[in-house]
Amino acid sequence: MKNKHYINGTWVSSATSETFSVLNPATEAIIAEIPAGNSVDINAAVNAARTAFDQGPWPRLSGAERAVYLRKMANIITRRLDELAKLEVLDNGKPYPEAKWDIEDTAATFEFYAGLAEELDNTSEQAIELAEPGFSSKAIKEPLGVAGAIIPWNFPMLMAAWKVAPALAAGCSIILKPSEITPLTAIALAEIADEAKLPAGVLNIVTGLGKDAGQALVEHADVDKLAFTGSIPTGSKIMATAAKDIKNISLELGGKSPFVIFEDSDIEKAVEWIMFGIFWNQGQVCSATSRVLVAEEIYPALLARLIEETKKITIGSGEQDGVLLGPLVNSDQYNKVLAAIERGVNDGATIATGGQRPPDLSVGYFLEPTILTGVDENSWVWNEEIFGPVVCIKPFQSENEAIQLANNSRFGLAAAVMSKDDERCERVARAFRAGIVWINCSQPTFVEAPWGGYKQSGIGRELGQWGLNNYLETKQITRFD
Ligand code: NAD
Repeated sequence: MKNKHYINGTWVSSATSETFSVLNPATEAIIAEIPAGNSVDINAAVNAARTAFDQGPWPRLSGAERAVYLRKMANIITRRLDELAKLEVLDNGKPYPEAKWDIEDTAATFEFYAGLAEELDNTSEQAIELAEPGFSSKAIKEPLGVAGAIIPWNFPMLMAAWKVAPALAAGCSIILKPSEITPLTAIALAEIADEAKLPAGVLNIVTGLGKDAGQALVEHADVDKLAFTGSIPTGSKIMATAAKDIKNISLELGGKSPFVIFEDSDIEKAVEWIMFGIFWNQGQVCSATSRVLVAEEIYPALLARLIEETKKITIGSGEQDGVLLGPLVNSDQYNKVLAAIERGVNDGATIATGGQRPPDLSVGYFLEPTILTGVDENSWVWNEEIFGPVVCIKPFQSENEAIQLANNSRFGLAAAVMSKDDERCERVARAFRAGIVWINCSQPTFVEAPWGGYKQSGIGRELGQWGLNNYLETKQITRFD
């Protein structure tokens, strides 16, 4: 692992000697000291990206030519799959099989955007019909320019891919600032770009703290586009700073997503999807279905089965076989989640199971998967993102009540519904005020489909064609014949 930034196609030492420590959340041991880049490093990276965009080959290549590099990167990621998945486990704590999915999805994201880059060669020009005689017009799509990407720690390499792959496919150059909590696979991504011989300055990676490197990237006048995934408070701050230069921004923020389960649902399937929806990645998932609403007819039976299955979850280091729930990412996150549970209890909720450190795990940020019942709909714990393995579950009496409870939120990232009645599912899916809706499941994510939130969950969409459009400008060219 290189302890340097990747700028202009080379590994460079940080402008400061300051570093930050990266911990293995399962052991609390320090596993790396990483350069805490500052505004000087960011400036060098932005200058390299600007030169690559203004003078380099990248935006001038055809989409098919850019696709060759993206496919090379996908192939290298696939070749390094096991090693990258293990790195993600060490850095983030997630169980190895989940880390492996993330890396597979990372490679698939590069592969998918290679395809869209090729398509751009045929779709980037569109003739426009004008009513006025004597004129002809067309719209063309062009790369937007220099992009800055800031990402969180919950899916470190995948979140990088969701921004880097479409930006490269579009012909942009990019500076990536990974989370200071999980920077290791982003550094590996720079190695991968280097091996793929991506032209200098097209992808630059600067590690550092949000308040220094992150802030400097957001403030830099030569960045045309900011793509951010993270919390609402940081997103709001970034939006305010970006407003100064009218920067193009896209924001993928938090969620408190509902899962509505009707009385005709198969209880076993419902329990399976509820558990996946909230305990996957230790619940540190923006789209986690953390508010479960169950028809009162099946509520007691479903809750009993959910508690029974939740108690069976194997907790431990993500490196161990058979582990379903790893540690939370760090002590801050651990304390935040514990405080959220305590707040829920103080506001009247009951812990149906969990809520404690597992007795056999005294080291590492381990927490039992937790189910809260009797949660008041006006309480903090029902309304705010916990970002941990904690689910609030509540009975409802009617479809209207369920929709009203589901939509009564400042968030609107995801929502899910389960019923054997297709029409009811479709009706409820359309009634949800959320950008991602799952029917009879929760969480499956596809690179072809748009991803993003309504309301305070964000602005814009990633993935699919929508993700590519984030990095394209539209120009009209009108001719007087
Ligand atoms: P965070 O907002 O604390 O940090 C995210 C990134 O922003 C980090 O790289 C951090 O260094 C950087 N940052 C912090 N302050 C900054 C500043 N002033 N200027 C510029 N950059 C700054 O979020 P987090 O704790 O890393 O991630 C968890 C959050 O991310 C949750 O709210 C979660 O819902 C959200 N999330 C959303 C999605 C989505 O697709 N909507 C996906 C994953 C995570």
